[in-house]
Amino acid sequence: MYKKAAKIIRKAKRVAAFTGAGISVESGIPPFRGEGGLWTQYDPNFLEIGHFKHSPKASWELLKKIFYDGLADAQPNAAHLTLAAMEKRHLLETVITQNIDGLHRKAGNRKVYEFHGTLKTLICLGCSKEYPLSEVDLSFLPPECRLCGGLLKPDVVLFGEPIPEPANSQSFFEAEIADVLLVIGSSGEVMPACIIPFVAKGHGATVIEVNLNESQFTHQVTDVFLQGKATEAMTELGEALALTRSDRSRTTGNKTSTEEQHEHP
Ligand code: NAD
Repeated sequence: MYKKAAKIIRKAKRVAAFTGAGISVESGIPPFRGEGGLWTQYDPNFLEIGHFKHSPKASWELLKKIFYDGLADAQPNAAHLTLAAMEKRHLLETVITQNIDGLHRKAGNRKVYEFHGTLKTLICLGCSKEYPLSEVDLSFLPPECRLCGGLLKPDVVLFGEPIPEPANSQSFFEAEIADVLLVIGSSGEVMPACIIPFVAKGHGATVIEVNLNESQFTHQVTDVFLQGKATEAMTELGEALALTRSDRSRTTGNKTSTEEQHEHP
């Protein structure tokens, strides 16, 4: 299966990856659904824009606990690093991600479309000023705009909000022109993101899927299903693609981390 997938990727003219929460689970960030998923503990309504505006302090406290407290320490794992190595080796054009954790960029991928935005930026609901996370003190919640005093919101798509441009149209365009889509760790249950693999397939792409479990895609669009943990499956795929250990390393400041250091956080 891995050799088959590698052969398809090597022969392709344009490969895109489409990633979901599952790729970051082994970096210590829980998904929404499945084992250990956030919806087993929390009500999804807390991520609704109306609720956020009505109860900003309570919403922020939960957002901080769930996403922000562990974010600075979260490191890309072997699956993120393999995607970065594939881009470096011209085996991958772009990453379309539903994730908001910034780990693809941290791993070294340069062409990343963040379909649901990013936690690394905050935006003022009053005057639209943007703040990098590093400039905002999250010890006082909810954080407020220094210019107008408005409420700051993570620059992520809450339920009830539109998908940001240009990530929206660029993601669909990439799906249309890719001849291979590598889908990793997505349940396929979040609209409209889950349409992307169907669009790729409809335009003739071969779909390779990596997931621990079957998803909404597996029996509908997937041509090659690599079942397993994202880190293990992507390491094996990287080997089948003849990526070297140094391809899959990442330089962070003065220290180089390899996929092995992140495989079992
Ligand atoms: P999801 O939570 O609906 O489903 C997770 C999927 O990952 C499941 O199919 C599951 O089988 C699979 N999975 C779990 N662990 C895995 C592993 N170790 N290796 C491979 N696959 C694994 O995820 P989704 O489809 O991305 O949709 C949820 C939404 O949640 C997204 O829109 C995203 O914005 C948001 N989200 C993001 C993060 C993040 O940024 N890391 C975390 C939680 C939720």
